[in-house]
Amino acid sequence: MKDLIDSLPADRELSDGEWRFLIEGDYDRQRLYDRADRVRRQYYGTDVYIRGLIEISSYCKNDCLYCGIRRSNAKADRYRLSKEEICACCEQGYGLGFRTFVLQGGEDAVHTTEWVAEVVLAIKEKYPDCALTLSLGERPRRDYEIWYRAGADRYLLRHESASCVHYGKLHPPAQTFARRMECLRDLRRIGYQTGAGFMVGSPFQETEDMIADMRFLQEFQPHMVGIGPFIPHHDTPFANFPQGTLERTLTMVALTRLTVPNALIPATTALGTIHPGGRELGLKAGANVVMPNLSPAAVRGQYSLYDNKLCTGEEAAESIAGLDRRIRAAGYQITVGRGDALTEWNDKEQ
Ligand code: SAH
Repeated sequence: MKDLIDSLPADRELSDGEWRFLIEGDYDRQRLYDRADRVRRQYYGTDVYIRGLIEISSYCKNDCLYCGIRRSNAKADRYRLSKEEICACCEQGYGLGFRTFVLQGGEDAVHTTEWVAEVVLAIKEKYPDCALTLSLGERPRRDYEIWYRAGADRYLLRHESASCVHYGKLHPPAQTFARRMECLRDLRRIGYQTGAGFMVGSPFQETEDMIADMRFLQEFQPHMVGIGPFIPHHDTPFANFPQGTLERTLTMVALTRLTVPNALIPATTALGTIHPGGRELGLKAGANVVMPNLSPAAVRGQYSLYDNKLCTGEEAAESIAGLDRRIRAAGYQITVGRGDALTEWNDKEQ
């Protein structure tokens, strides 16, 4: 077993049995986390990158079975930020030291290609030294291209599950695995730093599905990988499923660090939600990014993807000093700057 952890270079093909053991086997997890931490230090030292997360709309035309802002949830309080409100968030975030802004939202039918492009242009014009990340779901390739040309640098679109069958159990038939993958490939080819990722412990997820996730990450080599535990939302069909565990989530974060060594991996809000020290534990298991909430305080509670989602305390961007203290106590430090992925991939179409 020792050999398996120590010999896990990113390009090694593991058998199903080896992956299965690493994911669910009975061994000392601390050794896995420590090894992931060593690899993260080789690439990124002890720096932690910060991203200001602005949740721009809770309207969504999709119906992901796990998500609290799904279309069918008639009880969800909905809001949508204006361009001016989004720019005000950036202004506040810039003052706090953020040099990456992430605009995330439901798939809001009111967000036209042109409107998003205008927002991107406005932010990049005012903050040319900042990176802009979009996370607005599946869109036609043309939209991704227009937003890239307007100045967007990165795009987060979790693959959710690399197993077609499992993906189908998490989504209605109209949302297909093939389309999700096509979007991810489009984003990469256009030139975005591209983020994939998945939930740990989502309903019906088997170890084989997570093996598929790891193999997908190994092959796709995303620039960013978001991994958090599934947490039920009371107004969804998955309300009564158990949440993902801390240990399994940390295991998948650590295995991801070993599989995609130069990836930007956030210690996610969901990880912080299931355990008071979740964020720090994520960092110690290979994560190197945190994404505090920069949304206007008045709407934060309404972007309710799952129950009890953190948006106050150190999860709030304005508490960055407290967050920095906690991160320092864990042995790392926040770094100001865009925090781009270390390697520029060469698959951009000419
Ligand atoms: N519409 C965008 C943003 C989705 S919300 C998109 O499609 O990419 C961001 C992420 O939150 C999702 O990708 C999903 O992995 C995660 N999420 C949604 N519901 C969740 C839940 N109940 N528990 C944990 N994570 C959840």
